[in-house]
Amino acid sequence: MDNLEEGLAEIDDYKALGYQQIKLYSSIRPEWVLPLTEKAHQLNMRVSGHIPAFMTATQAINQGYNEIQHINMLFLNFLSDTIDTRTPLRHTMPALHGFKLNLQSKEYQDFIALLKAKDILVDPTIAIFENVYLSQKGEPSPTFSKIMSRLPLMNQRSFYTGGLPKSGDTIAIYKASFEKMLAVIYDLYQQGVEIVPGTDGLPGFLYHRELELYVQAGIPAAEVLKLATIKSAKITGVANDFGSVAIGKQADLILVDGNPVANISNIRRVEWTMKGGHIYYAKELYDAVGIQHFE
Ligand SMILES: [Zn+2]
Repeated sequence: MDNLEEGLAEIDDYKALGYQQIKLYSSIRPEWVLPLTEKAHQLNMRVSGHIPAFMTATQAINQGYNEIQHINMLFLNFLSDTIDTRTPLRHTMPALHGFKLNLQSKEYQDFIALLKAKDILVDPTIAIFENVYLSQKGEPSPTFSKIMSRLPLMNQRSFYTGGLPKSGDTIAIYKASFEKMLAVIYDLYQQGVEIVPGTDGLPGFLYHRELELYVQAGIPAAEVLKLATIKSAKITGVANDFGSVAIGKQADLILVDGNPVANISNIRRVEWTMKGGHIYYAKELYDAVGIQHFE
């Protein structure tokens, strides 16, 4: 969109199409945020998104955000509102400085208190930051290492491209910043900020990695599974029909070969999916697109 009026009209259009929520991107002008969130809220829609460039997360929340996508956007809250986050700086600044964030600091604790007071959801998409901060050019990305051999060769190449260029000191610095992101996710969980598991690439598989990383962060696997099922259903207002196995609910299910509470990676071992009264066998679907079934 090029101006506020177009944005307001888009919200009307999405409401008419039945959407519950709009997502604002980094390139939205800060002065558009308040009128856009007011419009969405008038229509009973929620607002999520990136924090627009030249704004902090605190400002966006105070102007009506209900949810924040991507955990780097939380870290940017403590860096500077002068960063042009339409550029790759939104990745490099938290990578270079994120490790310094002090979870005991008043500034951080005040921000967590704001998230709780306003019921702000956080959608960390931590798996993409693992790939961007840790993967090395020419080496298999840790984010995709569990599934890459199952994918066609053409896809496998993209798992060797590395994330942010890194060498020397920045390798350890980026790793420390990624570890700090995991620490923040665990802290959000402990302090009662609602986490909604989302992804930002490779549908299906990256979601599994997202859940694995929450467990790596310290959240018990059983709680992670709830975030992915009943809690997400409650947050999106569909818990009467979905989100748990119960009499009277829709039988939209997956069958997993293994116990994901004992080992969250078992969530990758989906044998079939039942949806809308149809059953879909994973092996048949994978075969159809050239992906090997899990071993
Ligand atoms: Zn996004």
